[in-house]
Amino acid sequence: MPDGSSSGTQGRSLFAASRKVHPRAASGHFRRLKTRVSILLLAIYFVAPWIRWDRGPGAADQAILLDMSGRRGYFLGIEIWPQEVYYLTGLLVLGAIGLFLATALFGRVWCGFTCIQTVFTDLFVAVERAVEGDRNARIRLDAAPWSAGKLGRKALKNAIWLLIALFTSWTWLIYFSDAFQSTRDLFAGRTSGWMLSMWGVFTASTFLFAGYAREQVCIYMCPWPRFQSAMFDEDSLIVTYESWRGEPRGKAPKDGNFEGRGDCIDCGLCVQVCPTGIDIRNGSQLACIGCALCIDACNGVMAKLGRPANLISYDSVTNQVARAKGRPTRRRLLRPRTLIYAGVLLAVALGLVSVLATRSRESVSIQHERSPLYVRLSDGSVRNGYTVKIQNMRRTAQDYHLSLAGIDGATLTVIGYGDEDADSVRLPVAGDAVGTFRVYVTVPPEVRLGRETSLDFLFNNLAADQFLVQGTMFAAPPP
Ligand code: SF4
Ligand code: SF4
Repeated sequence: MPDGSSSGTQGRSLFAASRKVHPRAASGHFRRLKTRVSILLLAIYFVAPWIRWDRGPGAADQAILLDMSGRRGYFLGIEIWPQEVYYLTGLLVLGAIGLFLATALFGRVWCGFTCIQTVFTDLFVAVERAVEGDRNARIRLDAAPWSAGKLGRKALKNAIWLLIALFTSWTWLIYFSDAFQSTRDLFAGRTSGWMLSMWGVFTASTFLFAGYAREQVCIYMCPWPRFQSAMFDEDSLIVTYESWRGEPRGKAPKDGNFEGRGDCIDCGLCVQVCPTGIDIRNGSQLACIGCALCIDACNGVMAKLGRPANLISYDSVTNQVARAKGRPTRRRLLRPRTLIYAGVLLAVALGLVSVLATRSRESVSIQHERSPLYVRLSDGSVRNGYTVKIQNMRRTAQDYHLSLAGIDGATLTVIGYGDEDADSVRLPVAGDAVGTFRVYVTVPPEVRLGRETSLDFLFNNLAADQFLVQGTMFAAPPP
């Protein structure tokens, strides 16, 4: 021990080594639900990047794609440009509030059933169970000396884990590049070094987190359990051992008489099925991910004993207290906190949908020339220069008719387009491209100007019936 350690801890480590958890297979309502949710989520995850979506010739045809090199995001019929990244922010906000609402209503349902760590750990444990057997067989195998049989089983398990990790991380990568092309390139040996290294990093992470770190990720690495308790109230659903009914615990009575004792027979099955290895009878704990498998285990025991189910219950504190006092229970889904979460969720969702539905498929930017700010021509008129950028987010080429408003008699000259000193100029922009134009605005000498006068550029896309106005200023010498 280093100097300064207390005499009571001399010679002993203050840190307990983590215990390997060997979860036992559970069966019952929550296990079935968990399996179905996992299959659904895994199917969506693995299948989604292979789904095609026709966006016309020359466009990406992957339904869900975050095309980093093309700087574009695609989600079914929605196409997001880099400057529209606030839509993704809106989606994240939506997800966060949805999570708050689900937690307030159903407790740690995210952790127990849908979190990616939970789903993949469950899959990896299922593989382990298939290769090495259930809990007792795995404990025996781990304790046994190394032999050809043990080596073979361990190698087979790790090989299957590695295959799943490779497949999982490749699937992640093809959300960012065309799935078919990238996979063809992989088999043809044309994958870039960058993509291969990312594949390696994600494979190693999946393999370690789901295969070996497992519950350690939930208990020590994930921040979510630390602040989700702020979303709970006494009506949120949580997994709890009903000690008023279970205690005093003891071995199962041979005569089946539970008079004067609790229903818990101290069989330990609830601990054995727990993926984080905790004993829920010690009370609510941060390490409890709310998977409810201990409920399945205990309900099986209660059924065999002919005792009522749900000694470990998935219910609100209010109902548990009511049951303990013999009062009727009730489910309160509509509460101030859930109503606020639901209201905010609805408002954000509606806002996002309305912004998406009404968004323009073109945007313009105008940059005033700084040096010089203005030029006085020989006839006394004043000229300003601008760089105009028109972003055409449509797949087809568009014509934008540019005109001016705000200063009488102002005329336009666009280098390379239309006549000089015209009232309106047609600016063509290719599909899915940004057009850049040098524009000069000239104001005749008889027009009185301040040092800075507001000027509007009007962009009229007749074919698409779109009209955009962008304000800027026109600089002139002091009167
Ligand atoms: S205590 Fe029960 S609900 Fe909590 S993690 Fe363990 S098995 Fe799942
Ligand atoms: S499974 Fe039920 S009966 Fe068995 S130890 Fe756990 S709480 Fe007690």
